[in-house]
Amino acid sequence: MNPDTKRFLSVQMMWIGISIAISLTLSFLLPFPISLVAIIGVFIAMNYYMRRRQMRRMGMGMAGGFGGIFGAGSGGGGVNYVCMACGQRFKGGSCPRCGSKMRRADF
Ligand SMILES: [Zn+2]
Repeated sequence: MNPDTKRFLSVQMMWIGISIAISLTLSFLLPFPISLVAIIGVFIAMNYYMRRRQMRRMGMGMAGGFGGIFGAGSGGGGVNYVCMACGQRFKGGSCPRCGSKMRRADF
């Protein structure tokens, strides 16, 4: 098994363990109908939190993938810039139209 998957699974198991521990604690501390509601609330909150974490992880993975594609596609041709002052597209250090060095990368 690859170590990334293994780490992911152990984190998953840890979260399941934590949510079970919390539910057990709640069911001890609270009377029945309230404890059930609280447990469901905890599970929903956990789920939401996990999903957000995973989304962020996936987003980063995708950005890395796109970076790789762009890197391969441009073939060392350099990055295009857009002048912040006049909007001229150019390559290199400064704008050929107005000479401004204020620029942003344009993909
Ligand atoms: Zn310019």
